[in-house]
Amino acid sequence: MAAKRKLAAMAPVDEDPVDPSDELMFLCLGGGNEVGRSCHIIQYKGKTVMLDAGMHPAYEGFSAMPFYDEFDLSTVDVLLISHFHVDHAASLPYVLAKTNFQGKVYMTHATKAIYKWLIQDSVRVGNISNSSETKVQVYTEADHLNTFPKIDAIDFYTTHTHAGIRITPYPAGHVLGAAMFLIEIAGLKILFTGDYSREDDRHLVSAAVPKDVKIDVLITESTFGISTHVPRLQRETQLMKSITDILNRGGRALLPVFALGRAQELLLILDEYWAKHPEYQKIPIYYNSSLARKCMVVYQTYVSAMNDNIKRLFKERMAEAEASGDVSKGGPWDFRFVRSLKSLERFDDVGGCVMLASPGMLQSGTSRELLERWAPDPRNGVIITGYSVEGTMAKQIVHEPDQIPAITQRGATNTARRPGHREGEQIMIPRRCTVQEFSFAAHVDGKENMEFVQEVAAPVVILVHGEKGNMTRLKSKLLSFNAQKAVPTKIFSPANCEQLRIPFKSDKVAKVVGKLASSIPPPLPPNHHLKKPKSEEENGEPMVLEGKEQEHEQDGQEQQQQDQANPISGVLIQNDDFKISLMAPEDLKEYAVLTTTTVVCREHLTLSAAGVDLIRWALEGTFGAITELDITDAAISGKEEAAAVNGNAHGNGHARKKEEADEEVQRTTKAFRVMDCVTVYCRPGGGRVEVEWEGNMINDGIADAVLAVLFTVESSPAAVRQSSRTHSHSHSHTHTHTHARAPQDDDDIAAQKLGLRFKQPHPLKTPDPATRLARLLMFLEAQFGADAVSPIELPRTPAAHVQAEGKSLGDDGGGGGGGEKDVVMTNGTQAVQQETTTTGPSSSPSEPPFTVAGRPPHSPSAPTSTPTPSISPADAQELKRLHSLGIPVPGIKIRFDGGKYEAKVWLEDLDVESSSAALKARVKAVVERGVEVVSGLWR
Ligand SMILES: [Zn+2]
Ligand SMILES: [Zn+2]
Repeated sequence: MAAKRKLAAMAPVDEDPVDPSDELMFLCLGGGNEVGRSCHIIQYKGKTVMLDAGMHPAYEGFSAMPFYDEFDLSTVDVLLISHFHVDHAASLPYVLAKTNFQGKVYMTHATKAIYKWLIQDSVRVGNISNSSETKVQVYTEADHLNTFPKIDAIDFYTTHTHAGIRITPYPAGHVLGAAMFLIEIAGLKILFTGDYSREDDRHLVSAAVPKDVKIDVLITESTFGISTHVPRLQRETQLMKSITDILNRGGRALLPVFALGRAQELLLILDEYWAKHPEYQKIPIYYNSSLARKCMVVYQTYVSAMNDNIKRLFKERMAEAEASGDVSKGGPWDFRFVRSLKSLERFDDVGGCVMLASPGMLQSGTSRELLERWAPDPRNGVIITGYSVEGTMAKQIVHEPDQIPAITQRGATNTARRPGHREGEQIMIPRRCTVQEFSFAAHVDGKENMEFVQEVAAPVVILVHGEKGNMTRLKSKLLSFNAQKAVPTKIFSPANCEQLRIPFKSDKVAKVVGKLASSIPPPLPPNHHLKKPKSEEENGEPMVLEGKEQEHEQDGQEQQQQDQANPISGVLIQNDDFKISLMAPEDLKEYAVLTTTTVVCREHLTLSAAGVDLIRWALEGTFGAITELDITDAAISGKEEAAAVNGNAHGNGHARKKEEADEEVQRTTKAFRVMDCVTVYCRPGGGRVEVEWEGNMINDGIADAVLAVLFTVESSPAAVRQSSRTHSHSHSHTHTHTHARAPQDDDDIAAQKLGLRFKQPHPLKTPDPATRLARLLMFLEAQFGADAVSPIELPRTPAAHVQAEGKSLGDDGGGGGGGEKDVVMTNGTQAVQQETTTTGPSSSPSEPPFTVAGRPPHSPSAPTSTPTPSISPADAQELKRLHSLGIPVPGIKIRFDGGKYEAKVWLEDLDVESSSAALKARVKAVVERGVEVVSGLWR
């Protein structure tokens, strides 16, 4: 029943408030409800991935950029560039050179190779661009070349991990090198398609769903919305008919293309058609792109990364080249009927031709110039083959406007000669040429995209890279599939700068390792999701134990009861891979990926009043024995001090140096070590005191206490009086310090007396056993709370004792050994010897036995002061024996968590007993520390 209740309480309910750390954040800085300037941010579990860094082809300068101001790019761990297209990669030099981005950048080898040329080309073209007055150059060629080496090139199907983020690129079709990225953060798997195509074309490997991976989030392009492409063969036929129609009527066919990508595919189609149709072979096919020419090398290089068709073509051409004896001409990219055109200056425009010219959007450059030249002639034709971005001439021209603005120099001068044109007026060119559109854009169409989404079957789909209308249609269509699903797919289509927060509940599994795993039986059966579907109702535990400990499995209720008695406590460590381990603090070094670092804490205070003796006296009074150390000055402030000395020496020459050196000898410093963990360094003559300790929970507490004591001492009347004395004795050296107060004679004498008193050991330094026990109790109370600590009146049964002794053999000794081992006596200082003389009687074994009733008044609340009525003779004898050793009570009991757990400390050997290993370890640590405080218990 309890288990069921527990389950009910813990079972995840959908209305549960979501832990923000379980949310995936998604943000479009660009490419949200638009095509162009792709840039998306994913954040999950404190990791940040940026997808693409594009520029919008329809805009110029900063307005073409993603909204980088909306996000702190310095937080990005990894930036993935899906492919080389301008709308995905062109603002990368800006990100790397001009922002505080510090992450890693990954792209495929082919993408990187082409990216280099492409950006270089675009920077140069940008410089000679038309509307140069309004154009702001967002980065220079130098920015590009300087940041290029920061890019990591990777291979398809290889997994790379950075900052705990795993990434794997898969072929995306689309263009050479284009990748889909599988991103894994803390077990959450995200697939980003980038631009992708699934059609078998003439050279690319088409995109496939990654095998054997369960995708949680799919981020997919939606360029074509739900519209479907005409089947490939039919499209090719239509394209060739359109081109030949233009040629047959004596016209010129202009195909504006992006220099790389589809252009290569179209050239393969044309070259193949020309080969089969000799009647057209006298008509030239021109390809005008210096960029593409440069990148042909890349295309030749990556033939092995292309599809079987191109590999076959490669073999055929190589064989032909060898047969003809000219090996330099081999390769599938050495077209037979295509002529590369370096520039329009060399173009002999005399008749029919096929011209592929960039840029694809007809915004400027060669393609725009040719459009303006050829548009007035009705025999000519423009054929749009790619996806036309909103706001570009390529998009406008398909609507067949009557005229188009002349923006290129040549177009403008040609028309300017016409009469009636006024200065400053937009020159328009009549459009009489034909315009046709056949989509050879290598993007999936609606049907292919939806099939892909269904196949991936991610519970969350985010649509990007699509105009709002197309996106909305695709979203509705995808949502309509939810009717047949048990768990509906969530579909998102965020606009730019609109943050998505998507909760992902995941089972958190911690592996118990080290001491914890060996000392505690596994408290729970394995998580029902993973192992035991049948007993689902019986389990409701938030945590799963993995590993060999599972062999201990127990069943049902017994198990549940044990869970409640034995919660595991330890440190949860999450490594870079998001695997969580639970371990005892002492196992951190061994099991945590982290190396344990010691933090040394230092606190400086200026005690102008209290002198060294007073400080010693006060510390002894509070902490019992303290260790006294003599240290030379240099060791206190370390290099800083030494550096200061050197600096002075440089400035003031030899004499000054000597003086400093003399002073150093005189300034031997006292240091007190409190409880073997906090050191107090005091300068002679008062002044600066430095408290130093290794930072951890226990030490921090002790250090706080030390600091409190020091402050109290400072403000005590004794200190004020003593201060004058100390100063009067510390003026043997010549240089001027800040010794402001001059001693007055009366005060001086009084202070000397006082100082003498402080040179004596503190009366509380080595108290009698009862006081020492009381102090130990105080210490335990401070750690566990006053109500938690109480004395044990009856001795431990002999059997338990023997067992415990056997057990403690392997222990680290921790003050055990029946008082034989004197931990604190190792101090061996004079102070300790004095201790025996001043408090001699109380530490002698012959001291009268101590009873519970006789405990000092400030010890913790005892259950009752009446002696236990039923005390067996054996117990009585044992008590007597303990008393004769000076041990007032057999042990101390510590209750924890409202009495659920308890630990017993048997005082004779300081053995700690507890059913909870964690509590036992903690109590043991405290007791060991406490015993040091009270300078040994029973001697
Ligand atoms: Zn693209
Ligand atoms: Zn794109």
